[in-house]
Amino acid sequence: MVIEKIPVLDLQKQYAEIGADLERRVLEVLRSGHYILGPHLSHLEALVADMCSCTHGIGVANGTDALILALWALGVGPGDEVITTPFTFAATAEAIALRGAKAVFVDIDPATFNLNPDLIEAAVTKKTKAILPVHLYGLPADMDRITAIANRYNLKVIEDNAQAIGALYKQKPTGALSNAACISFYPTKNLGACGDAGMIVTNNPETAERLKVLRAHGMRTRYYHDELGVNSRLDELQAVALLTKLPYLPTWNEKRRQVAAWYAEALADCPNLRLPSLPVYATPVWHQYTVCVLGNKNELRDELQQQLAAEGIGSMCYYPVPLHRQKAFSDLGYGPGSFPAAEMVSQQVLSLPMYPELEAAQVNRVASAIKRFMQARTAISVPTTTAPPVFG
Ligand SMILES: *Cc1c(COP(=O)(O)O)cnc(C)c1O
Repeated sequence: MVIEKIPVLDLQKQYAEIGADLERRVLEVLRSGHYILGPHLSHLEALVADMCSCTHGIGVANGTDALILALWALGVGPGDEVITTPFTFAATAEAIALRGAKAVFVDIDPATFNLNPDLIEAAVTKKTKAILPVHLYGLPADMDRITAIANRYNLKVIEDNAQAIGALYKQKPTGALSNAACISFYPTKNLGACGDAGMIVTNNPETAERLKVLRAHGMRTRYYHDELGVNSRLDELQAVALLTKLPYLPTWNEKRRQVAAWYAEALADCPNLRLPSLPVYATPVWHQYTVCVLGNKNELRDELQQQLAAEGIGSMCYYPVPLHRQKAFSDLGYGPGSFPAAEMVSQQVLSLPMYPELEAAQVNRVASAIKRFMQARTAISVPTTTAPPVFG
């Protein structure tokens, strides 16, 4: 018998749904000869901004550039400090460093994987210019509490909304909860291009204007450069691909919610596993469905991952090393133990297969494999007691 593989993400399933439409529309753009800063980009900028309850969208080359340009447009530069999370994709802190500013990490709440609002205020200094929360795995950070601190100290807030397009925080879309929000259309994101692309959304017309200048070599009038900028644009081929996919996004996000609900039900009684928590303020979009294998060592998590792989089931560890323990950020001088929650969950997290096309039977197969492994391990580790198993 051939076992059907369940990859962690399957973009070919999506292509089967929209491929014909995509090919037709991409071909139209190819034949048009208009490839940069054209009508498809303007259309996409308007639709994505609107979806995020923002007045302006500025398309750029990728999500990392969106972060760099948002920080730049909001005045973050050398000598400034920006408060952010150590438990995120490197681009978040990289963008701060590339602006010549300093990333100041604040630990996460292990329940949400997002910035812990209780710890932010203690990290504010005279040099702090902005707070950069990440809506990790598609779950909005606690923005009201973050905004309250920002207002108290007159700080800017920039959302890293790379993973959460379409999510709601207290019924408001992520992206509309800060001075500027950064979206990535990397192919594996909930709304993915056929290559690299990104966007900044904002409700501030001056910020929007500045971003348009910075993304195009500091030009307001063609070939008149008032200041230095960069070349970071979202091209027409990517724009038309995103326009083709955008109408599907609400349905795709709804299907992700269904998949998450199936996982939650099927894994509810699994020993030694922590399922994602759902704060009352959040309607997430499940960019990832991430469980924690409890304990303070990564061995059991890694063994589970191997066992799943042996059964044809994909999984990923986002992220195995928190940013303050990465070589690239060693100059920030944070030692081990600086952010215990981020360090703990980086040993525990495992993201399970998650995409809209997953079916209940597949989710149940993943869940059964996890339960079988965890029950066996629990039985070996705690053979004689009925107390809940404790690992590590
Ligand atoms: C994907 C991602 C980025 C970077 O986006 P790119 O388009 O790949 O440059 C930034 N932050 C987070 C949290 C991401 O997941």
